[in-house]
Amino acid sequence: MKIHEYQAKELLKKYRIPIQDGVVCESENQIESAINSVSTQFNAKQFVIKAQIHAGGRGKGGGVKFCPTKDKAIEAAKAILGMQLITHQTSEEGQKVQKIMVAEALDIAKEYYLAITLDRAKGQDVIMASTEGGVEIEEVAEKTPEKIIKVWVDPTIGLQAYQARQLAFGLGLDKDIIKQAIPLFINLYKCYTETDASIAEINPLIVTEQNQLIALDAKFNFDSNALYRQKDVVDMRDLAEEDPTEVEAGKYHLNYIKLDGNVGCMVNGAGLAMATMDIIKLQGGDPANFLDVGGGANVETVKNGFKIILSDSNVKAVLINIFGGIVRCDRVANGIIEAVKDLDLNVPVVVRLEGTNAEIAKDLLGNADLDIIPATSLADAAEKVVIAATGGN
Ligand code: ADP
Ligand code: MG
Repeated sequence: MKIHEYQAKELLKKYRIPIQDGVVCESENQIESAINSVSTQFNAKQFVIKAQIHAGGRGKGGGVKFCPTKDKAIEAAKAILGMQLITHQTSEEGQKVQKIMVAEALDIAKEYYLAITLDRAKGQDVIMASTEGGVEIEEVAEKTPEKIIKVWVDPTIGLQAYQARQLAFGLGLDKDIIKQAIPLFINLYKCYTETDASIAEINPLIVTEQNQLIALDAKFNFDSNALYRQKDVVDMRDLAEEDPTEVEAGKYHLNYIKLDGNVGCMVNGAGLAMATMDIIKLQGGDPANFLDVGGGANVETVKNGFKIILSDSNVKAVLINIFGGIVRCDRVANGIIEAVKDLDLNVPVVVRLEGTNAEIAKDLLGNADLDIIPATSLADAAEKVVIAATGGN
């Protein structure tokens, strides 16, 4: 789960990390008062208008604008609020900006990069820091990875003071900045672990002309498996930023991820779902989604899964590939029959059911007088659905 920059900063503030604060607005009539409030609250003369979307790279995409005057700030805020912002982290259509942050423009002396994530290979958290912070960090990571310092933290003992010093010295910070950096590193690690974050990133972490260390931008991702014990985190969820079909699927406890292809897939079990997507690719097709209906799929789950797949207008054919282990194939077949009768089905459906009660399921589907293409093996199913998706050619 992701959150906005302004929410990430509120979180950092709770952990006593100095942030570049601002005022958020959601509609045009709030803009002027937001700018006035920033100018009085922070005694600001110059402003930065920042689009709040769940994607990075906003600066390069035109979603972060420096404004030397109040009038320019109003102009930029009006332009950014409501714009379709395209960055290297959004889809091609971009993301609609529904909130902006008005911030004071700071005098930046130096931009650093700081992030914590899990290094799965080592089974430890890794803290990454670099003197080359700012909007080019991806390029730094690719071309000059030696400029990124890494410190690994054993999660059972946490970040040690000597490691925080190692990071500060590695960045070549001045003495009075080191004094601010050490508690900042320790507090960020604390925040990362206590909130079950999977990424905590401050980019840039700046030193101002006035020698203050401040988080100018912040980004968090959270482990969705831990949300049940993170009420404060869940409260920050902004569904408007998430894919609507994925949100809908979540309501029915379906693991659905939208993709770009045209073959809709309904499968049980993540492993089989991955294999199904692979074999569709192998047959020259392109999956429209990943959908794992889970081990306990029933008539309702199958129906809801179907609805979600069909709500994607790119879908030209559907492959249902179910292995009946815990879930019985006849139940799935009944779900398919109900769904097909209920929904206005205008794309071909290929069905492969194998395992418990597969024979009963085949009879049910055969007698239901539905326009369903039966398949036997996985390869057979994939071949048939790819042909169906391309209009039978
Ligand atoms: P993103 O990472 O999405 O591009 P950032 O918040 O990091 O967005 O902003 C991009 C760049 O804009 C920063 O690296 C910094 O140089 C500049 N910037 C952002 N906020 C301010 C500010 N308040 N004052 C001065 N410069 C800023
Ligand atoms: Mg940034």
